[in-house]
Amino acid sequence: MSDCIFCKIRDKIIKADIVYEDEFVIAFKDINPQAPFHVLFIPKKHISSFNEIEVRDAFILENIFLAIKKTVFKFNIAESGYRIVGNCNKSAGQEVFHLHFHVMAGRKFLWPAG
Ligand code: AMP
Ligand code: ZN
Repeated sequence: MSDCIFCKIRDKIIKADIVYEDEFVIAFKDINPQAPFHVLFIPKKHISSFNEIEVRDAFILENIFLAIKKTVFKFNIAESGYRIVGNCNKSAGQEVFHLHFHVMAGRKFLWPAG
């Protein structure tokens, strides 16, 4: 997707503070952090939202969750805890239509989420 901001981050056309990268996944700090630790994990493949995930993408999701696990241990937030958020479409407030998981830590989170 040529006009997708996260594809441009993946292709290093737009600069981001990348904290993790492998063949299938890239993770970078959110530009407008909502917690002391706020990192976005995206598949390198452009998938617009959770609604567009296909069976053949299952291994990508596996890789994202393994990437999250590696990263939370690396940044020492595995034990204290973190929140994983995925927004889909209007009601959830999705702004960027390239699938992503927010991983946030470093403060207390409310439940139910706002
Ligand atoms: P969502 O509302 O789930 O679509 O979240 C999109 C997130 O992307 C927001 O938290 C934005 O702050 C973040 N974001 C948008 N542009 C950039 C960028 N260039 N670099 C890093 N994060 C971004
Ligand atoms: Zn994209």
